[in-house]
Amino acid sequence: MSETSTLSDEERRHKERTRKHKAVVDAKIAAAKVDKGLVLVLTGNGKGKSSSAFGMVARTLGYGRKAAVFQFIKGKEDVGERAFLSRQDGVTWENCGEGFTWETQDRSRDIAAARAGWDKARLALADPSISLVVLDELTYLITYRYLDLEDVLPAITARPAMQHVVITGRAAHAELIELADTVSAIRDEKHAFRAGVRAQTGIDL
Ligand code: ATP
Ligand code: MG
Repeated sequence: MSETSTLSDEERRHKERTRKHKAVVDAKIAAAKVDKGLVLVLTGNGKGKSSSAFGMVARTLGYGRKAAVFQFIKGKEDVGERAFLSRQDGVTWENCGEGFTWETQDRSRDIAAARAGWDKARLALADPSISLVVLDELTYLITYRYLDLEDVLPAITARPAMQHVVITGRAAHAELIELADTVSAIRDEKHAFRAGVRAQTGIDL
């Protein structure tokens, strides 16, 4: 007896549906032939922007490639991603912030930290040996006018052809979205913080 003759009607219908689905997916995969360095913008008010960026750092390192992370805004506080990723081979990690603005309350110091961080990020964006550059919380520097888009956009556009860049932060500017190849706006449907749960290590930091 052949395999199909032993299948129930439902199993046969499922097999036929998935066979058609596979043909459609395979055709789409075959049509995507371009390799290029991507700009990804992860924005929106929901949780998951920075942690997604660090997931891509892990993927990059998994191939023995190099990644550079610039963590703007956040200060000296210990976060799990830095503790783990900064001790892996192939990562350079720069903390370019003095902490949240409502913590530092010192605009000129925040601006100096942001600009010093950006000067280092610019070097990474010119280094073809670095496969992935993460500009974590970059959008705030533009919103607060610590950096001009006229400084940021040309450095990203002129980067090596195969280098990927991930930008995170809420309220990404139209120009960044325009420049990006992939944009995800993470929606905040629910967050445990609003139910009184404080930030949990391993999940939030
Ligand atoms: P994560 O680093 O967890 O991926 P994120 O980068 O999307 O978060 P940020 O706006 O950078 O979010 O905020 C960082 C911290 O704030 C994390 O601890 C995160 O859980 C928390 N957070 C993110 N979104 C919300 C929200 N809508 N309400 C309250 N806290 C949030
Ligand atoms: Mg973040």
